[in-house]
Amino acid sequence: MPNLSVAAPTVPIEGREQPFPVRRIFCVGRNYAEHAREMGGAPDREPPFFFAKPADAVVAATAEIAIPPRTANLHHEIELVVALGSGGRNIPRDAAIETVFGYAVGNDLTRRDLQAEAKAAGRPWDMAKGFDYSAIISPIRPAAEVGHPANARIWLSVNGELRQEGDIADMIWPVADIIAELSTYVELKAGDLIYTGTPAGVGRIVAGDLVEGGVDGIGTIANRFV
Ligand code: MN
Repeated sequence: MPNLSVAAPTVPIEGREQPFPVRRIFCVGRNYAEHAREMGGAPDREPPFFFAKPADAVVAATAEIAIPPRTANLHHEIELVVALGSGGRNIPRDAAIETVFGYAVGNDLTRRDLQAEAKAAGRPWDMAKGFDYSAIISPIRPAAEVGHPANARIWLSVNGELRQEGDIADMIWPVADIIAELSTYVELKAGDLIYTGTPAGVGRIVAGDLVEGGVDGIGTIANRFV
């Protein structure tokens, strides 16, 4: 018999002993106009869309991370992450924010070369987005303590050089809209994480890089790649 005791992935909650159990990881594509343009899209005509990563893709904000296999173009995407404390189906927009337990900052690591191949061939993005250790996340800050931020600077630097900078106020679809829309596709539940999209300036990470980022008032990440 194989050993069937598999530990559920968790994320620390700032100031609490009990961690946040991760159920599913959803991600929003193209939620900042400038990033949609840099990826060759037209933000006015293309509503954001969703993809997923496995729950055990989560990796700590201070972890040393090996450059993943099968890519020559690993990219960073700094994002506000929403952690759900409840859920539902077809959640009304004006009730959506009540499902949020807290917020974190994440880096939606992407094998950009595999993503480009998948796009060109009309194939799924799973191997471009949902690989091991592809969902960097900071400790979660409960909304009971930080509220529901509508504006906050979001930024990422590589070896001290600023690469991405924006404001979460510039999201095409704000958090409540994302939750409401996503809940029309799937039933959301406590433990779900939603990566809400990245501002412009995505770029390559190579071995040796120190990738730091944050959302002001929410948290920071600092990962060395090897
Ligand atoms: Mn992303």
